[in-house]
Amino acid sequence: METQKKYRRTLSFEFFPPRTPEAEGKLQVTRDKLAKLGPNYFSVTFGAGGSTRDQTFETVVDIKESTGIHASPHLSCIGLPLDSLRDTINKYKDAGIRSLVALRGDMPSGAGVASQGSLRYANELVEFVRKETGDYFHIDVAAYPEFHPQAASAAADLQNFKRKVEAGASSAITQYFYNPDAYFRFVDSCEKMGVDLPIVAGIMPITTCTQLMRFSEACGAEIPRWILKRLRDFGDDRIAIRNFGIDVTTELCEKLLAGGAPGFHFYSMNQSEACMAIWQNLGLESTADQVDRVAAQ
Ligand code: FAD
Repeated sequence: METQKKYRRTLSFEFFPPRTPEAEGKLQVTRDKLAKLGPNYFSVTFGAGGSTRDQTFETVVDIKESTGIHASPHLSCIGLPLDSLRDTINKYKDAGIRSLVALRGDMPSGAGVASQGSLRYANELVEFVRKETGDYFHIDVAAYPEFHPQAASAAADLQNFKRKVEAGASSAITQYFYNPDAYFRFVDSCEKMGVDLPIVAGIMPITTCTQLMRFSEACGAEIPRWILKRLRDFGDDRIAIRNFGIDVTTELCEKLLAGGAPGFHFYSMNQSEACMAIWQNLGLESTADQVDRVAAQ
């Protein structure tokens, strides 16, 4: 964990683009509450849950203009032709956006190989963005402490992560996890491979049982048995789940901070309550003026 200790702390919240006027109103309220905490940036997912590229662009620009806080769009390459990726990148550049989360993404089920676009993996997207725009963007990539579900092996996944870093990634955000040792060991393996960049821990607050199980099944994140059993015991008692979830996630973050993690990226699910409670429990002070991650944005 020694490499991580030299990096300044980065705190961020992730949103998905709202799909109805009502959801848009709710996101504005969430965003304004979380903005008061002084995160370094907000990020906005791309294509997840059926949202479109345009919705990501509009949400990012709206966040940047209405909060004054950096906004980072996610961009995935799978299924998209190079021209379309180039247009999207240039559109962000024109809008003064200085950072991106570069991903492969997942093919919608039923889509054929023919519709897979020109780039196959996230390392190729990082390379493409660097070729097109040089050092203009701060590029985040995804990291998987419990390994990506499609990886041939843990060792192959680590090599693939290294490839993304060598292609020009600036920092990484992990998939969520509830076992801090998975993160510490992942970072140690990176150090041994000579991979040195901030690896920020992705944190999923626990607020519901069924949704968490569904997501974890899809993305390969393990929910420890003891957490699952307790969540199941709570049944429909949302307050009990909420309180337990906040406790468990706060303790996870405390262990990560003590071990030298250089920050947290909260998967907010467009909700502020659990994120704010965890933030408060951790006593995280505003970092907005402490770190200028993307100075010119
Ligand atoms: P890659 O790094 O390309 O890896 C994908 C798989 O291919 C891995 O198993 C890897 O080991 C393997 N691999 C990589 N390179 C090679 C190679 N050269 N040869 C052979 N195998 C290789 N999804 C969305 O749709 N929208 C989002 O906004 C979104 N945001 C995310 C944000 C974060 C922080 C994270 C962690 C995930 C996000 N995802 C999102 C999910 C992500 O798109 C999926 O996990 C996807 O399956 C992999 O994307 P990747 O960028 O990690 O892919």
